[in-house]
Amino acid sequence: MIHINENYLKLKSSYLFAEIEKRVEEFRAENPGKEIISLGIGDVTKALPGACIDAFREAVEEMSRDNSFRGYGPYKGYPFLREKIAEMDFKTIGADISPEEIFISDGAKCDTGNIQELFSLNSKVALPDPVYPVYVDTNVMAGRTGKWEDGRYDNLIYLDSDQGNNFVPDIPSEKMDLIYLCFPNNPTGATIDRNRLKKWVDYARENKALILYDAAYVAFIRDDYIPQSIYEVEGAKDIAIEFRSFSKTAGFTGTRCAYTIVPKECMAYDSKGQKHSLHDMWYRRQATKFNGVSYPVQRAAEAVYTPEGQKQVRSLINYYLENAGLIRKTFEDLGYKCNGGENSPYIWIKTGKDSWEFFDLLLKNANIICTPGSGFGRCGKGYIRISSFNSREKVEEAVERIKLALGH
Ligand code: PLP
Repeated sequence: MIHINENYLKLKSSYLFAEIEKRVEEFRAENPGKEIISLGIGDVTKALPGACIDAFREAVEEMSRDNSFRGYGPYKGYPFLREKIAEMDFKTIGADISPEEIFISDGAKCDTGNIQELFSLNSKVALPDPVYPVYVDTNVMAGRTGKWEDGRYDNLIYLDSDQGNNFVPDIPSEKMDLIYLCFPNNPTGATIDRNRLKKWVDYARENKALILYDAAYVAFIRDDYIPQSIYEVEGAKDIAIEFRSFSKTAGFTGTRCAYTIVPKECMAYDSKGQKHSLHDMWYRRQATKFNGVSYPVQRAAEAVYTPEGQKQVRSLINYYLENAGLIRKTFEDLGYKCNGGENSPYIWIKTGKDSWEFFDLLLKNANIICTPGSGFGRCGKGYIRISSFNSREKVEEAVERIKLALGH
C-alpha cells in the first residue's frame, strides 16, 4: 500500500486566499454590477520593460535557427546573466559576490522553499511572524514542525514583528540554527537598517547558524540607510544565503526568473562537526532536480542591466511607489497608523479592529479588496495589507472610495 507523507496533513489549507475569494464571491452575488478594485494581490500589473521584450524577441529568433539554437543551459544559469548580476547588483554596493556564486532559477518561491532540503530535520528554524507562508509550509512538509496549536506550529521559533520593534524582530533567547529574514518585508513593508542587520549577522557567526535572506523587494529601496543586500555587512558571506527575483523588479512574475547567492565561504556542519560547502550542496541539488531557466528568459533578464533597462525598471518601480505613497497618505490622513509604502510596495495598516472585520468593511463600503493581516500569522491580527500593484487610475479611484467609506 502506498503511504503518504503525513507531514502534509499538518498543513493548514490555504485558508487566507480561499476565504478572501469566498467573501468576494458572496459580495458579488449580492451586489451585481458593483465594480470591485483589488488591492489585495501581490502580483504586478504593468507590462514587461521594453528592453526586456526586445531582448526576449531576439533570443526567440535565435532559437528559430539551427546555428544559434540552444538546448539545455548551464545548471547555474548562463554566464552572461550571472556576470551582469555580480557587476551591477553587488559590485556597485561594495559587496564582493562572484558570478560563480550566483544560481539563476525560475523563482524565489522555489528557491526559498527548496533550500531547507540541505539542512537537518533537527535544525531549529526561526521565522518572522507575520510571514511569507512559503518559509513555514515547506518546513512543515519536510517534517521539521510539530502540530498546529493556537495559530502556530510546535517546534518553530516565531520572531514577533510588531509595532514595538518597528516590525524588525529582535534576537530571541532560544538558540536558532536556520533563520529566515525578509527585507523589505512581505507583508509588513518593514525595512532593516545596517546596525540591526549586523546584530543578526553577528548572532549567526557566533552560533554557527545560517541566515536565509529574502530580498525579493530590493528594487523598492530608495533610502541610502537601508542595505540592499545582507552582504553589505562584513562577515555575512560566511553565514548567509540571499534570494532575489526579477518578479517585482522587472515585472517577471509570469515570465519567471530569479537568482540565489550561495557564497563559496558558506558552510554547514555534519553530526561529527565536519564542515561542508553549502555552495557545493546547492549545486548538487540543482543539478539533480532543476534544468534551468529558458535561454530567452535569461536574455530578457539580462536586458534589465542595459542603460535602457535600468531606466525602465526604475520608472516601473517608481510608478508602484507613487501608488503606495497615495494609499499610505490616505490612510494616515484618516488617522490610521501605517508601516511600509516607502521602500516597499506594501502598506501595513493597523485597523483598530479584527482584520476580517476591517476586510468586510472595506469590501462592503468601498468595494475594495485588501488582505487581512491575521492570515500571515498571529502578529498580523488587527492589521491589513494593502498592495500598490495596480493602475494609477484604479488606485486614485480606490483612495477616493476609502476616504468616503472611512472618513468621519
Ligand atoms: N519572496 C517573497 C517575500 C515574496 O513576496 C514573493 C512573491 O510574492 C516571492 C519570494 C516569490 O518570488 P518569485 O516570483 O520569484 O517566485
